[in-house]
Amino acid sequence: MTDKNIGFIGLGVMGQSMAGHILAAGFNVRVYNRTKQKADALVDQGAVWCDSVADLAASSDVIITMVGYPADVEEVFIGPDGILENSAAGSLVIDMTTSDPALAEKLWQDGRQNDIGVLDAPVSGGDIGARNASLSIMVGGSPDDFHRALPIFKTMGTNIVHQGKAGNGQHTKMANQIAIASTMISVCESISYAKRAGLDPETVLKSIGKGAAASWSLNNLGPKMIQGDDAPGFFIRHFVKDMGIALSAAESMGMKTPGLDLACSLYKQMEDQGAGLKGTQALFHLFS
Ligand code: NAP
Repeated sequence: MTDKNIGFIGLGVMGQSMAGHILAAGFNVRVYNRTKQKADALVDQGAVWCDSVADLAASSDVIITMVGYPADVEEVFIGPDGILENSAAGSLVIDMTTSDPALAEKLWQDGRQNDIGVLDAPVSGGDIGARNASLSIMVGGSPDDFHRALPIFKTMGTNIVHQGKAGNGQHTKMANQIAIASTMISVCESISYAKRAGLDPETVLKSIGKGAAASWSLNNLGPKMIQGDDAPGFFIRHFVKDMGIALSAAESMGMKTPGLDLACSLYKQMEDQGAGLKGTQALFHLFS
């Protein structure tokens, strides 16, 4: 498998680390990103720069995308300059962006018409998980394509689960984001309460971070809230995008989501205040 060309599109916070792990594992890696400079470090380490999505698609056996929004996914997949038009029959395309389950199903069907395998494989674990190659990867698509992709997934993650048909990876990620949405509110309230009660919040985390209240958000983002460190991590504007996808998917299933509604409205308030490029832990400012 390491003799295959792996193309990677989208070299932001997550993609740079993820592509770096694939390269370090010995694969031939070809890269493209809207802003070219973000590829410099990877090219210095041996990745090959491609001048366009079409170039990259035509010269890669497996193409991975880690862009921002569903609209970005459509832009790189669809149309005469897109991945599906320019990949050879038998290629495998893996979208790891957090995107729309319905779009993932459509891309899988489009790919099928040209004998191109398509997987939706969003991730959880944050920038820290991407850097440490310890991501949780949730995958939708055919079992054969999942097994073809497994050696590549193993370079980036430690918990890799096939969730079933196309779109199910994105639905799983939405379940993940719904759980995180209300958790973020509870983490903010908990730390705010500890401060107002006159406790040292870092000492409080030593207790509650190891008990029944423990969560990734409490243990990784709680300390940043206490220190006033708003650097992303995970952009607020991407979280608002995810909650919007989850809300409309839940609505189409006739489901009520009061926790998600509240979290989404609070994060939109932050975005309206100009905080979209801050990390999601900046929500704490609404509570402090
Ligand atoms: P990011 O830093 O904004 O990275 C996205 C990258 O994609 C950017 O470098 C952007 O180019 C590039 N891009 C967008 N559209 C493109 C296009 N049409 N052609 C070529 N390149 C394009 O975001 P991120 O934090 O890495 O997140 C990526 C995805 O993973 C998002 O869907 C996010 O919701 C999800 N996610 C993020 C985290 C996290 O903790 N950060 C965790 C799990 C999942 P430019 O450099 O020009 O902007």
